[in-house]
Amino acid sequence: MLTELKISQAIEGLRRKEFSAEELTQAHLKAIEALNERLNAFITVTADYALSQAKKADEQLAKGDVKPLTGIPLAIKDLFCTKNIKTTAASRILENFVPPYESTVTQKLLEDGAVFLGKTNLDEFAMGSGNLNSAFGPVENPWKRQNDDDFLVPGGSSGGSAAAVASAMAMGATGTDTGGSIRQPSSYCGITGIKPTYGRCSRWGIIAYASSLDQAGPMGKSVEDCAILLQSMAGFDPKDSTSVNKAVPDYRKACGRSLKGMKIGIPKEYRVVGMSSEIETLWQQGIRWLKEAGCEIVDVSLPHTKYGLAAYYIIAPAEASSNLARYDGVRFGRRVQGETLEALYSNTRREGFGAEVKRRILMGTYVLSAGYYDAYYLRAQKLRQRIHDDFLQAFQKVDVLLTPTAPSAAFAKDEHQLDPVQMYLNDIFTVPASMAGIPGLSLPVGLDHKGLPLGLQLLGRPFGEESLFSVASSMEKSANFQTKPSLYVGVKS
Ligand code: GLN
Repeated sequence: MLTELKISQAIEGLRRKEFSAEELTQAHLKAIEALNERLNAFITVTADYALSQAKKADEQLAKGDVKPLTGIPLAIKDLFCTKNIKTTAASRILENFVPPYESTVTQKLLEDGAVFLGKTNLDEFAMGSGNLNSAFGPVENPWKRQNDDDFLVPGGSSGGSAAAVASAMAMGATGTDTGGSIRQPSSYCGITGIKPTYGRCSRWGIIAYASSLDQAGPMGKSVEDCAILLQSMAGFDPKDSTSVNKAVPDYRKACGRSLKGMKIGIPKEYRVVGMSSEIETLWQQGIRWLKEAGCEIVDVSLPHTKYGLAAYYIIAPAEASSNLARYDGVRFGRRVQGETLEALYSNTRREGFGAEVKRRILMGTYVLSAGYYDAYYLRAQKLRQRIHDDFLQAFQKVDVLLTPTAPSAAFAKDEHQLDPVQMYLNDIFTVPASMAGIPGLSLPVGLDHKGLPLGLQLLGRPFGEESLFSVASSMEKSANFQTKPSLYVGVKS
């Protein structure tokens, strides 16, 4: 079935005219028809747009005018502004927002020939770890525990993108990652995802959550597919002052490179209490694979990691409270009238924002307030610097770090919902790399005893994405992870 193909295979198949771009897109639209009602991975499906792009792709293929992604159907997280296509950030406040412009990342994908199937669900404004905070309802993980049909979360915030790729409704997807939102859902859904170095992809046109942490990245069925997608997404953009002017290397070439002589660091602080022994076992398995591939394993210490989560949940809400001040009902988005201007603001924001977003705005406003700024925000910033320095010190000794991606497999919808702090703990392994701005990749390596996927995380030096792709593609071969989720459009081997 066409939906079973990886992007790397579809590129070849299209060039060899084994099938057309229109057929490929049709197959994915059919998959969406079959599964989206249940999974709720897409907020908006752009079938007509996708088909017209696919037809154009076929014309280009016929002319031999082929771009890197010509005819490849993708899903776009609904946090990327797409011109003339509704972009909601999964919030009531942007429920009917149709941007008059295209984000730089999606523009680059379009220029490289990609086809957009639709916009995927997420936690409202990307705040969450279970995709439970969406104004458009939760997303269901296509994976099921053995012998039960419980509704499991796909992770968050890029839960719609992860579920869409895992179930084969899309060949690949864009995500954004502020504290783990690409890596953690990738791990929960058994796919691969990479958060590149801060500044590698332009943030222009991506709805802001916490600007000093937000970064776009690809989610895909394989390491190579992520390399192909990142190739198109990355690059300097004068419209984003934090985007870095550095040439984009050939990521695909980095896949499959020999690991002989590479040094892999194992940070002892990532062994936390309460982590399942299965994750520890897989981690050890990962270490063995890398040894067999010729790597040297080195124990390292990142002493400030333990403060990562606490500092993150000060800095991210602080920035969010400032970024979300723009939703006032005046210029765009939802407006709820009031007797006075102030009433218009408060009515709009009361109706427009969900509970978690309000909680973060309150936390952020509090930690930035005059009396508490030094006690919270400033201290968190100092810790952020220490976390960053820990990583750079480790990278003097090693090339790449190997850790688990998340402390558990996907959890059930009603498991953590009532306790926000419990929910925040899911990000314990992903947040430090976000704080330091370094790249992180999650790849599926095995299943737990209930049959749910588990991921391992690789962390690299700033702009060291190539090393991550090399190490990940070697581990991918060793792991040979082939299991498909219960809800999947294709043959389950
Ligand atoms: N779960 C984290 C949060 O809620 C990370 C989210 C993200 O990376 N966008 O902030």
